[in-house]
Amino acid sequence: MKRGPKRKKPGLMRPESLMMSYGYHPEWSEGAIKTPLFQTSTFVFHSAREGKEFFSQAYGLKEKDPAHPMGLIYSRLNNPNLEIVEDRLNLWDRAESSAVFASGMAAISTSILALVGLGEAVVFARPVYGGTDYLLEHLLPEKGIVTREFPAGADAAEVEGILEQLEEAGTPCRLVFMETPANPTLVETDIEALAAVAHRHGALCAVDNTLLGPLYQRPLEHGADLVLYSATKNLGGHSDLVAGVALGSGELVESIKLYRTILGSMLDPHSAWLLLRSLETAKLRMTCACKNAQKVAAWLAKHPRVGRVHYPGLLPEGDQKGIHERQALGPGAMLAFELAEGGEQEAFRVIDNTELIKLAVSLGGTESLVEHPSSMTHADVPPDEQAAIGITASLIRLSVGIEHPDDLIADLAAALDTLEPAAVVEAEPSEESST
Ligand SMILES: *Cc1c(COP(=O)(O)O)cnc(C)c1O
Repeated sequence: MKRGPKRKKPGLMRPESLMMSYGYHPEWSEGAIKTPLFQTSTFVFHSAREGKEFFSQAYGLKEKDPAHPMGLIYSRLNNPNLEIVEDRLNLWDRAESSAVFASGMAAISTSILALVGLGEAVVFARPVYGGTDYLLEHLLPEKGIVTREFPAGADAAEVEGILEQLEEAGTPCRLVFMETPANPTLVETDIEALAAVAHRHGALCAVDNTLLGPLYQRPLEHGADLVLYSATKNLGGHSDLVAGVALGSGELVESIKLYRTILGSMLDPHSAWLLLRSLETAKLRMTCACKNAQKVAAWLAKHPRVGRVHYPGLLPEGDQKGIHERQALGPGAMLAFELAEGGEQEAFRVIDNTELIKLAVSLGGTESLVEHPSSMTHADVPPDEQAAIGITASLIRLSVGIEHPDDLIADLAAALDTLEPAAVVEAEPSEESST
């Protein structure tokens, strides 16, 4: 297999046109139209001299020469499936470089460890994904990395105040981290404003873009330095792989890849190969799911049993809508809704009565999934904090898939109908005592 110089330039073509071929030539592998799976741990050097050359590049003993990319050594350092999927991921986010990881959490934790040192700080928007929250609240502080939170949607002045306090305390902030829109409440945080604050204080800005994905938001174009994904979700899209991605400038990703190599948090060739398959249909899948979500959200918003619907496509006039319109390219396929009346018990009843829509965590797959954030994905957030960030007892999260929208609506209609008439719902728990 010949590498590097043979790669096609993306030119003016759109990512969806390049996802079947970019970064791979059939002549490299017996004419195979599809990128083969390079299920191998190690690679044969042509000569001892070549082995010496590759290692001197791998250990940074020699200046990197872009005309002669580092040869293949060992699959913890590099592997064709990882390199090809990284080249294709760069196209979606218009990034210079990227690194794929064993999971979204591997991408997030490896990146933070690479960029933030002992006695330095990470400032983050809350809510964030549960695993990220645990890392920032518990594991990093235990190792001497300082972390401070601010509420998702906070304005620049509030975040700047935190960065100034940290500077005065001698623990400079190195990273401002956010997830926007936030899971599960879909609150939007202003990337451009907070990236500017970060940069004024010598910090970088990282955005977990898992929810909207590169089709509907490209944070690098709004000043972010680093984009992170759980590729398990929209990018993988079939609920059959676990993977993560970090994207940014060549220099930044290089420094993260050093940690990836030493921590061993890279993606495996087989999952990278599956991700290549997934990227071919990323636009098709995400466009369909987003259209479905718009229909489902509009229908839910009119249903008498439904209270508030949280969906970027249904934001009322105001700051949140302003942020969304500035930085997002579409509303995506994730929504959450509250019931007009009732709490956990009523939410469970709805969830237990969907048939087509499956009860499972995760999101961004071809199938629609429903879950209850308060008792499931966000169960470790204390009740008072749940209330503060809008996770109510009746809040139901829905990741919309690519089924027919009318079937999804019919499924939700039948599940919501089990709540009627209202008296039946109230009578159930105290049936014996009250009658
Ligand atoms: C799922 C998820 C993660 C973690 O990704 P894994 O692939 O499960 O490790 C991080 N951030 C967000 C927003 C997620 O939804």
